[in-house]
Amino acid sequence: MKTLTVDLGDRSYPIFIGQGLIDQPELIQPYVTGTQVLIVSNTTVAPLYLERVKQTFSDYDVQTVVLPDGEQYKNLEILNRIFDVAIEHHFDRKCTFVALGGGVIGDMTGFAAAAYQRGVNFIQMPTTLLSQVDSSVGGKTGVNHPQGKNMIGAFHQPECVVIDTDTLNTLEDRELSAGLAEVIKYGLIVDYPFFEWLEQNLPGLLDRKADVLAEAIERSCQNKADIVAKDEKEAGLRALFNLGHTFGHAIEAGMGYGVWLHGEGVSAGMMQAIYLSKLMGDLTQADQDRAAAILSAARLPVLPPSTDDMPNERFLALMAGDKKVQAGKIRLVLLKAIGQAYVTGDYSPALLERTLTEYR
Ligand code: NAD
Ligand code: MG
Repeated sequence: MKTLTVDLGDRSYPIFIGQGLIDQPELIQPYVTGTQVLIVSNTTVAPLYLERVKQTFSDYDVQTVVLPDGEQYKNLEILNRIFDVAIEHHFDRKCTFVALGGGVIGDMTGFAAAAYQRGVNFIQMPTTLLSQVDSSVGGKTGVNHPQGKNMIGAFHQPECVVIDTDTLNTLEDRELSAGLAEVIKYGLIVDYPFFEWLEQNLPGLLDRKADVLAEAIERSCQNKADIVAKDEKEAGLRALFNLGHTFGHAIEAGMGYGVWLHGEGVSAGMMQAIYLSKLMGDLTQADQDRAAAILSAARLPVLPPSTDDMPNERFLALMAGDKKVQAGKIRLVLLKAIGQAYVTGDYSPALLERTLTEYR
């Protein structure tokens, strides 16, 4: 087992990474407060892992909530079901919520924990690659509003993150690839050696070799933890995690949520950011080809939808609706080099237009 730390002073917490961790009460119980534990999962993950996790917390008064599966249920109405169970069973302020599932369950459980009785403890047990390398670390929690993704939320850090890499064995290939987009993102934004390592080790990742997955997860979480420790509430640096996301969110919304997975939109979106960085003279054609090669090898799309499906005006309008817009300018994460990202609103709109036109 590997242990990393997210260094946030008195709110610091460990990330445990290894095989079989969801079955280890001695590892997890030190992070439980109170006597009441509420495990939140969904209809896909619960049949696979809930009984085992209940066993892990068998020293406590355990309640469970099984939510419907899907991004469309990440809303205030469904969130209430968590509060309903907690209140019905008289959960007090010392209780602990446990998120067992992917990013949807993690974000909802974390937000419920942030709001229940003005804040209770929670533990993340992420079961998708995306949630293991991204959403379970860093304390962003929340739900969607009909008018926008993650519009209602809070920063609320977990007590610990328990990453059981064995849970990835039941994940669908397409979801594994979507998670790989965020893994590759860390190489592109801040970690060139990791990017090279990923080029070498992609076959092992696709074969779900436990040691290779564990190393990729560890290096991803380390990068996330380092940046979160420096910029917990996204005053600056943390925005680098949004590489490809302004383009990607536009694709997700433009094609209709659920048609493109988030990681798929991010993959094509990162390529658009890379193309624009090339037009700006910072990246070479060879850099672009390398990025496309690794994303394709990860079975991810490297081209955005066609201009028929998403004309430039619509693409731009959706990008401008993104909540990262400051004072009307679309701020983008671009690359100076592979492994060196920066955030800027200072680029020529004509080059963005060319990117949308030429890179299809
Ligand atoms: P998800 O939670 O919808 O999970 C994807 C699918 O995999 C679901 O159908 C789920 O039931 C299933 N699943 C989960 N674990 C499984 C397992 N072990 N075996 C089989 N099936 C399994 O999606 P996701 O990609 O994990 O997360 C996406 C969400 O995360 C979005 O809502 C996004 O906004 C959020 N997110 C949050 C942050 C953050 O910082 N908080 C960062 C990135 C993404
Ligand atoms: Mg993302």
